[in-house]
Amino acid sequence: MAKKQFKAESKRLLDLMINSIYTHKEIFLRELISNASDAIDKLYYKSLTDGLSGMNREDFTIRIDANKDARTLVISDNGIGMTKEELEKNLGTIARSGSLDFKTAMGSEGSEDGNSQPLQEGETIDIIGQFGVGFYSAFMVSEQVTVISKAFGTDEAWQWESKGADGYTIKEAEKAEHGTEITLVIKADTEDERYTEFLEEYRIRGLIRKYSDYIRYPIRMMVTKSRIKEGSEPKEGEAPEYESYQELETLNSMVPLWKKQKSSLTDEDYNNFYREKWFDMTEPVKVIHTNVEGMLSYTALLFIPGQAPFDYYSKDFEKGLQLYSSGVMIMDKCPDLLPDYFSFVRGLVDSQDLSLNISREMLQHDRQLKAIAQRLEKKIKSELLDLLKKDREKYAAFFKNFGLQLKYGVYEGYGMNKDKLQDLLVYYSSFEPETAKAGDAEEAKAPLPVTLAEYVSRMKPEQKYIYYAAGESIEKIDRMPQTEVLKDKGYEILYMTDDVDEFAIQMLREFDGKEFKSVSADDLEIEETEEEKEAAKKQEEESKDLLEYMKECLADKVSDVKLTQRLKSHPVCLTAKGGLSIEMEKVLNAMPMDEKVKAERVLEINSNHRIVDTLNRLYASDKEKVKTYASLLYDQALLIEGLTPEDPVAFASAVCDLMTE
Ligand code: ADP
Repeated sequence: MAKKQFKAESKRLLDLMINSIYTHKEIFLRELISNASDAIDKLYYKSLTDGLSGMNREDFTIRIDANKDARTLVISDNGIGMTKEELEKNLGTIARSGSLDFKTAMGSEGSEDGNSQPLQEGETIDIIGQFGVGFYSAFMVSEQVTVISKAFGTDEAWQWESKGADGYTIKEAEKAEHGTEITLVIKADTEDERYTEFLEEYRIRGLIRKYSDYIRYPIRMMVTKSRIKEGSEPKEGEAPEYESYQELETLNSMVPLWKKQKSSLTDEDYNNFYREKWFDMTEPVKVIHTNVEGMLSYTALLFIPGQAPFDYYSKDFEKGLQLYSSGVMIMDKCPDLLPDYFSFVRGLVDSQDLSLNISREMLQHDRQLKAIAQRLEKKIKSELLDLLKKDREKYAAFFKNFGLQLKYGVYEGYGMNKDKLQDLLVYYSSFEPETAKAGDAEEAKAPLPVTLAEYVSRMKPEQKYIYYAAGESIEKIDRMPQTEVLKDKGYEILYMTDDVDEFAIQMLREFDGKEFKSVSADDLEIEETEEEKEAAKKQEEESKDLLEYMKECLADKVSDVKLTQRLKSHPVCLTAKGGLSIEMEKVLNAMPMDEKVKAERVLEINSNHRIVDTLNRLYASDKEKVKTYASLLYDQALLIEGLTPEDPVAFASAVCDLMTE
């Protein structure tokens, strides 16, 4: 029979897994058992929703049979099974949904020849983690894998067989009961690896206890036990005669982790559970295990991941918690349990108050579910606040992963959730804690982001606003000419580097009664002394015609040209009038929209800079030159903002003209 080929990337992944230096080969058993359990779940769920009779929960089992002589390990279940098409689809392709991302994660295109590049251990783990290549892990320990499956409700059984990367065959087979039987021919031992141990009773028992204890169906295996031989009369002073016998034993306790006493669980238990269920090798930053009893009873086990899933900020990402009704999973990703801004939370909810055969549509309107969702939201928020308070470093890491989502949350729906979320926001700022100033550079820790409440608590008595600066990076913002004067006055500045930041700030408008103000706003409203005000007014008066003329020269490029006290050493800067800042303009114009927006730009000239005298002098003698200088200054301001001059060639030649004058 002709062999069918695996899809290209499947082949590469298979190669990787088989030859990998991935040390946890033992996880294959957990993967196969978990698939078996899922298959039973599906059938059990179907029996409930379709009202199938004659099916009892007690009838479902997962069997393990090890045969050391034949070197086979058989994992079988009486779950929903697979049709021929399903065998092809499910086992012929790896990473079905993520095949594209798989390639990207590999750095290069999956090579057709199957030659895998040497891989670091971490990388392999990542692949297994990200794509849940469950079934294929069998090839890490097997030279051949045979799957015989009979889909529930059909009369045909099919056999899928493969020796690894060279492809697979499918043919008709015999099988009495519905379900799936997977036979692994375990590899021969090598110098580095003793595969034989996966055929040994104690090892299998240990693996099931370690990884699959909470599986809710009995995992049974024939085990060898010993007893005093029947009919043998132990003589005085002699040891009794023993005989060994075989007995079918259930190897798992079937109590799900979340139903166990919190006090009996260790961090490691939670972390293992999380890793196995969500294939995430990074430890969660926070585990929330709560048990609520009363009018509404439920147990929730939630995790805040330590890294964002690779597709988190894409439209493919689906939020949701697993939903269980008295230990039986009724939905894998129940979206109604999480608000969008907390969509990063993984976990499950188990409630006896939910009906088993509730449909998706009904769930959406279920009052119990809504009530649970509300409680969970509060709980998640309070746990995050707790982390924020107690471990700023960890919170900063969390915020790096998911802060963007919280900011979108503030922005969405015209800020209707801002009150719930504003305390969770943190920003890097110009604030330097005393310790950082004093400590020597080597010991200085990376700066930590600050909360809005902390900012407000440090505001100067005369300071009216919460000042922020938006830009590409903290370093660039730090160099922005607009920040100089504020820093001089000792005002703290929040640094905003995410596209959504200024939009979210517009929704927030204020915090604790203090309004936000961009350092690039045209009216900074910094307190000045009377003399300063007087001097500024006088200078403005003197330069009135000049400024008016420059504005004319720059025509529709700017809506105003004015003198400013906000600059210290730089000659010019750009600011914006109205609600749309220059940073926001950049963000909006980067989006695929037909109409481009334009911020109302103001060219501000440093009133204390000698350029003002030069301009005034030229205005009296050489107006043409003022025109050139106006556009040169404007272009400089654009460059400082990280924008390109509209006509770079003209800019370059104007500079050159000056140099050769
Ligand atoms: P995953 O379990 O992450 O989806 P796998 O490669 O382990 O990935 O399995 C692929 C698919 O094959 C499963 O989603 C399931 O549809 C099917 N499958 C695997 N094992 C079984 C089984 N024992 N019974 C029925 N279907 C199975």
